[in-house]
Amino acid sequence: MPKFSKRAKSIKIEKKAKMLFQSLKGMHDILPADQLWWDKVKKISQDIADFYNFSRIDTPILESAEIFEKSTGSATDIVEKQMYYIKSKGKDRLALRPEGTAGIVRAYFEHGLSRLSQPLKLYYFGPFFRYESPQAGRYRQFYQVGFEILGGENDPVYDAQIILAGYRLIEELKIKNLTVEINSLGCKNCRLIYRRKLQDYYRKLSVKICKDCRRRLSLNPLRLLDCKNENCQAIKTKAPIMLDNLCSACRNHFRLVLEYLDELNLSYILNPYLVRGLDYYNRTVFEFTAEKLKFSLGGGGRYDDLGEMLGAKKGSLPAIGNSLGVERLIEAMKERGIDVVPKSKTKVFLIQIGQPAKKRAFCLIEEFRKSGVKVLESLGRESLNSQLRIADKEGAAIALILGQREVFEDSIIIRDMKSGAQETVPLAKVVEEVRKRIR
Ligand code: AMP
Repeated sequence: MPKFSKRAKSIKIEKKAKMLFQSLKGMHDILPADQLWWDKVKKISQDIADFYNFSRIDTPILESAEIFEKSTGSATDIVEKQMYYIKSKGKDRLALRPEGTAGIVRAYFEHGLSRLSQPLKLYYFGPFFRYESPQAGRYRQFYQVGFEILGGENDPVYDAQIILAGYRLIEELKIKNLTVEINSLGCKNCRLIYRRKLQDYYRKLSVKICKDCRRRLSLNPLRLLDCKNENCQAIKTKAPIMLDNLCSACRNHFRLVLEYLDELNLSYILNPYLVRGLDYYNRTVFEFTAEKLKFSLGGGGRYDDLGEMLGAKKGSLPAIGNSLGVERLIEAMKERGIDVVPKSKTKVFLIQIGQPAKKRAFCLIEEFRKSGVKVLESLGRESLNSQLRIADKEGAAIALILGQREVFEDSIIIRDMKSGAQETVPLAKVVEEVRKRIR
């Protein structure tokens, strides 16, 4: 979870001491102190989407569980171990979405989005759920921003553009020393031959690999390359790799993706062991990592067969996408000391003393709103001193003081908080006067 500010920490401790309940393990509140970071990631995501012409899509958080079983893969960790299943009263088997792509492909066919001009470029930003062991950078509810290019041709230029969109997003957040790890998983045909070679290699060593890998050997052999166990890591180094086994169409496709990245001067590392945890990927897969980070910031790949997995016509939806973990982006920004606090604007604080002044102040705020001037207040307080203290704490440069006398005289006091100098002006002119001073 992104680190809490000191104040937020103290609020959390207080809450623990007093309250019966806490947020669920692996799930977190996004407190006011952290909202600036979230706003920044949302804003940059929106800017990137606008520039590269991706339109926003929001799909429901709950989907039929089968969508993920059929696409993400029933033998993947995500579906086997991490999916939150929910049974509705009508006994439908539902799941809290563990990822975004399957729901988007469902929406694409459900709403006939293939009738729009293709390829269709979509992006999303929202919460996802996986029952994982919580640790730094790994939560049970986390947010992703993702970009997808669906339909049209399976042109390698789109692979490069999806990688570019993710890369630019991270770059715009000022996270430096970024690396793209990239691999190709080939197509159904060449992967089948490669899977057999991989199984042959591992079968001979089956007594030496871990229990999980022995299961993977028949169920999901590509995931053998992903194992973190020390023995398995050593065995992996001599395993056959997909890049040596691509058919000529897949090899050409991958070569072109790399050529586009070269054109952009975008640095990448070929990682023949990168397989990613979802079954629907084919051909290009990639991950974004940054120096000193223990986790990847995002990743993605091509998923030309996902449409078919969900019941569409074979080959009807070439597509590629990426997704980036928002908490991880924020964590990386904080670790690198990247500041998101906007340049401070001159703050104006409105003080009222007495009931008639409070009523007048309540309406005066609306006059400021119409002119686009933000005004801070503490309408629940009565005394001048307590309101001045708050104005000071908030860092207000100007305080407006409205007491009984001022209401009676249709005037208001403008106080320069730094020098303490005060001037009384007609109430009808205060908005204009404040605008002049904050300009
Ligand atoms: P995936 O959907 O597994 O391809 O993950 C894409 C990105 O989402 C990862 O690189 C992370 O940045 C983020 N992510 C995935 N799972 C989690 C999680 N459990 N907690 C936090 N971020 C996650």
